[in-house]
Amino acid sequence: MVQRKATSTKKKTTGKKVMNKKVPASTAAKKASPAAEPVDIVKQAPAAPVVEQAAPVEKKVPPVAEKPAPVEKKAAPVVEKPTPVEKKAAPVVEKPTPVEKKAAPVVEKPVSVEKKATPAAKKATSATKKAAPAKKKDAPAAKKPAPVAEAPIPTVVEPAPMAKEPTPVVEEAIPMSVMSNLPRRSIAFIGSECHPFVKTGGLGDVMYALPRQLVKLNCDVRVILPRYACIPQKYQDQMVYRGEFYMDLGHTGRNYYVGIMEYICDGVVYDFIDNQEFFSNGNPYTNLVDDIPKYCFFSKAALAALNYMNWIPDIIHCHDWQAGLVPVYLRTLFADSPVGRARSILTIHNLRFQGIYNIPTIKYWSGLPDHAFQMGALKDGYQDANMLKGGIAYADRVTTVSGTYAWEIQTPEYGEHLDGHLRYHSGKLRGIVNGIDYDMWNPATDPALVENYDLGNVLEHKMANKLALQRELGLEEDEGKFVIGLISRLTNQKGLDLVRDIIPQVLDGNTQVVVLGTGDKEYEDTFRYYENTHKGTFAACIQYDEARAHRIYAGADALLVPSRFEPCGLTQLNAMHYGTLPIVRETGGLKDTVAPYNPFTGDGNGFTFDRYDAGLLLDAINRAKTEYFTNRYHWDEVVQRDMDKDVSWENSARQYKDLYLELTQW
Ligand code: ADP
Repeated sequence: MVQRKATSTKKKTTGKKVMNKKVPASTAAKKASPAAEPVDIVKQAPAAPVVEQAAPVEKKVPPVAEKPAPVEKKAAPVVEKPTPVEKKAAPVVEKPTPVEKKAAPVVEKPVSVEKKATPAAKKATSATKKAAPAKKKDAPAAKKPAPVAEAPIPTVVEPAPMAKEPTPVVEEAIPMSVMSNLPRRSIAFIGSECHPFVKTGGLGDVMYALPRQLVKLNCDVRVILPRYACIPQKYQDQMVYRGEFYMDLGHTGRNYYVGIMEYICDGVVYDFIDNQEFFSNGNPYTNLVDDIPKYCFFSKAALAALNYMNWIPDIIHCHDWQAGLVPVYLRTLFADSPVGRARSILTIHNLRFQGIYNIPTIKYWSGLPDHAFQMGALKDGYQDANMLKGGIAYADRVTTVSGTYAWEIQTPEYGEHLDGHLRYHSGKLRGIVNGIDYDMWNPATDPALVENYDLGNVLEHKMANKLALQRELGLEEDEGKFVIGLISRLTNQKGLDLVRDIIPQVLDGNTQVVVLGTGDKEYEDTFRYYENTHKGTFAACIQYDEARAHRIYAGADALLVPSRFEPCGLTQLNAMHYGTLPIVRETGGLKDTVAPYNPFTGDGNGFTFDRYDAGLLLDAINRAKTEYFTNRYHWDEVVQRDMDKDVSWENSARQYKDLYLELTQW
């Protein structure tokens, strides 16, 4: 997973242009829409006809780019009086306030949180600080009950307009042949990114590949995503208007526009939640001040949209903190609505990112009841609420992306201060390792490569890719050199401090290093420096370039993944599939997917080291070099073994399907 680069902090511009002609102007300005007959999507009677709704008709003209309706200033500029929580929250071990029956999460044993602020905590702290001025600005609004609409109708919804509209199939669904005998389940994926619409890392890959694989296992899958302005225009143009309604949000006293734009591809339905106030920024993630309201809105709107579309899934599968409130909403505000009968799964792609902010703000935006803010649920420390923690407490199952990581996060070293909470919920926690999409990652058909190859001819054709890569990057063209690739976000997580410390020893005259990535300036500058001082042997590509990544996987001999922690990791899987041997630290998914090479038996897939130590990394690289230069026959055997290894989604998707079945045994 990934993310979360705090890019621009500038406020959203309001009244931004509607990007697509088919798009309804998603603005609060539409609030006055005469059609808005109040229907309470959230609290819709459970008895409401649930399944095949012949929803009303009214061919709704996709509000063609009605001039960009002026967006109201960001919802009642946020932070209503940060109510003085602290006092209330004083005792560390909060006594279990009596909980409503359905408020599942019980009071957890107080976990002694280590003193040192974990990165997640730090982040929140800094963000909180950052938010301070905003609070001030908004303070005046706090005292009065939000001055908004005189009649703040809780949730105003238009009648579902889509019944007669043929489901807008954009691309053809895959044939249903294979799946005939498998039990059928319906699943709604809810997450913040998905290739090819928007991707900042592994989460985007998973949101793309897993639903497609599940369709092949007779699942009916809808993926619900924010409709970010940065989604490429070619996809925006193919989205079809599916409906719209208005929804209240937290204690803002306002009703927010929720548009649903649909796109169907390979049997997977993608529903994009449209609202320009929240999603008009260029990047999916900006900073917590903006992201907290954004994902409170998104989580609630996603569930409301399911009710609105009358598509009630068996399972709601949400991903990471951005969808962390979904299980909480499901068992509180939505418990008595049709969607309330779905079971929920929360997958943690990276525990480092948790969505932490002060309780008043999250209460304000989410509107969740007080009991959701207990210590065993959202409450984190004295005064913060943690969206991921709440999701873990309320979800029926929690998964993470490898078995080893599932175990590691229950320890203080990797638990990012939630290890106690995770241990408490360990009964519903499990690890399922990611796979890679073989259509997207296939050296036999990959259009980015100069020469395609497969298991049968890798030894002849990989060399051509190596020479082409050297040429492309200005390295000395020499097939005898050992080429090490590194494709990564350049952050602390990825073990780059270890790499930095040993580069001079690695560059021994017979070795070349290629780095592709963006991230912390410190690392970007370090790698640029080495490119300058070691021209012809070190290449620093400080960029995000999908095609170049493919060429490095194909042209390098080995790929470095020395992560400090790695929930699953996809780069080592891509590398193996392209016949490039991984050199990895034995942690998380790296440990689960790369078996260490044994020079005596010849077994294994790559070179590994255990402790987080630069010397051990150098040792692993040297072992790889020794094998490459002195025992090429065995090296080539491992190349072929790795290409042959099944790292597809097939296996993993089956495990997810089993989990869905386990949760829905009627
Ligand atoms: P993360 O922690 O970033 O999610 P993963 O290994 O799970 O790490 O996934 C990273 C994905 O992003 C891989 O598919 C990798 O090829 C891709 N990737 C990372 N950095 C770049 C880059 N600079 N250019 C192109 N692709 C990249």
